[in-house]
Amino acid sequence: MDARNYGQLSGLPAAKKLFADILGCRQEQVFVGGNASLQLMYDCIAKAYTNGLLHSERPWCQEQGLKWLCPAPGYDRHFKVVQSFGFELVTIPMTPDGPDMDAVEAAIQDPKVKGMWNVPKYSNPQGYIYSDEVIARLAAMKPAAPDFMLMWDNAYCIHELYTDFVPFADIIFLCEEAGNADMVYEYASTSKITFAGAGVACMAMSVANLEHLEKLIGVQIISFDKTNQQRHVLYLKDKENTLALMKKHAEILGPKFRIVGEKLAQGLGGLGVANWNDPAGGYFVCVDAMEGTAKRTLALCAAAGITMTPAGATFPYGIDPKDSNIRIAPSMPLVAELEQAMEVFCICLKMAALEKLGL
Ligand code: PMP
Repeated sequence: MDARNYGQLSGLPAAKKLFADILGCRQEQVFVGGNASLQLMYDCIAKAYTNGLLHSERPWCQEQGLKWLCPAPGYDRHFKVVQSFGFELVTIPMTPDGPDMDAVEAAIQDPKVKGMWNVPKYSNPQGYIYSDEVIARLAAMKPAAPDFMLMWDNAYCIHELYTDFVPFADIIFLCEEAGNADMVYEYASTSKITFAGAGVACMAMSVANLEHLEKLIGVQIISFDKTNQQRHVLYLKDKENTLALMKKHAEILGPKFRIVGEKLAQGLGGLGVANWNDPAGGYFVCVDAMEGTAKRTLALCAAAGITMTPAGATFPYGIDPKDSNIRIAPSMPLVAELEQAMEVFCICLKMAALEKLGL
């Protein structure tokens, strides 16, 4: 096959094999796309909207009042995708084990609920890993909607910060075992492995789902960029070699995350004005400031020259009902800048808390 030419819509076989090894699924379940998994997620929902999925009774554009489950705090861009299609966003509380499954199982009784976002490993922003029990309950769900989409965004599947690779379940197999073979859509990319914006993204699902989607994708594109797929195959080689590269990334990122933890402990420890997590992987540290102080904290930071993800972004519609959650992404700044920024952040958070308390 000539990677430079059209054809092989579902991706280079070698790229499919690489992602199948990383995700722990079968090669024929993998579709390798362009440079962004978000685009694949958006597109699957867009296809459901314009054409319908394998088990849809009609295209979603012909249904009214559709809803989507959004575990929160969560990834703002996930929320925006479904918001842009007019879904009502239903907030599901997050716990350290994953989404509150009682809330999920109650919500999916409603046939208007068409899907749910998930970042099962090192969730964005809390860095939580879904427990085996939560994963088993998700795989065994019986949603009222026949075309419910369990969106499984495995963006941080091999993104450990300090340890060896932590294995994760093959959700496609688990769903199949539970009689839900066509419910799950898994996504991943090399955005945080090679290049953000110039990497390779993939999705994995049942072969029946893939055949259905391929027919629809084939209308919009003749093939994705297979030369980039080939570059990635040549560079990453296999899962083992990719994990070795992730260890090198961790050597750069791990110390930055440690600085964030140390500075938070030094600046805010024991004051009762904030809680935060200490993630073992992923890309974020999540701070819960005293209620009603997140926006003010970040406004003070902005005035001091520190730009962060806006407060509220981690909740549906960008509204954090408690105005408390703040997402810190320590990957970009240099270590010296990060130390300084974290000191300023802690001071701003304390100032916001003092103002709130009227002190
Ligand atoms: N999913 C999650 C959970 C993310 O945090 C991000 C990046 N911040 C993405 C997807 C985007 O991935 P991609 O570059 O493959 O679109």
